[in-house]
Amino acid sequence: TVGILVIDHHGNMAVGTSTNGATHKIPGRVGDSPIMGAGAYVDNSVGGAAATGDGDVMMRFLPSFHTVALMEAGLSPTQACKVALSKITKYYPKFSGALIAATVSGEYGAACHGFQTFPYCVQSGAAGGQLKVFNVTCT
Ligand code: ASP
Repeated sequence: TVGILVIDHHGNMAVGTSTNGATHKIPGRVGDSPIMGAGAYVDNSVGGAAATGDGDVMMRFLPSFHTVALMEAGLSPTQACKVALSKITKYYPKFSGALIAATVSGEYGAACHGFQTFPYCVQSGAAGGQLKVFNVTCT
């Protein structure tokens, strides 16, 4: 899954996902990506989050919604992603996946579990602004 979080000039946020789904999926399977709260979630007064990984597990935990709720409670984006993932890995220690998150004020972060590193990128300012690439070390 590719997840995207966008903040416009007025401080409005949008989130989106694009995915090819799970390997060997049953025809007609609906994964987590189009499910609000699972694949992505945004609250314009808080921030947004998007997820990638084992959607059949993630749909049980609504990790994008959980991440935004944790940011609303005061956690940083990175900390919120870590706590939301830990809720999943408590029950599914072999889970593989990642979360990205950003607040409406432009703080951002990510966390991942089940593989070595997870890359994500951030572009701020006008289109054509500098693109920063980050590699998060997974748990
Ligand atoms: N989350 C997707 C799904 O389970 C798969 C992926 O992120 O690669 O449909």
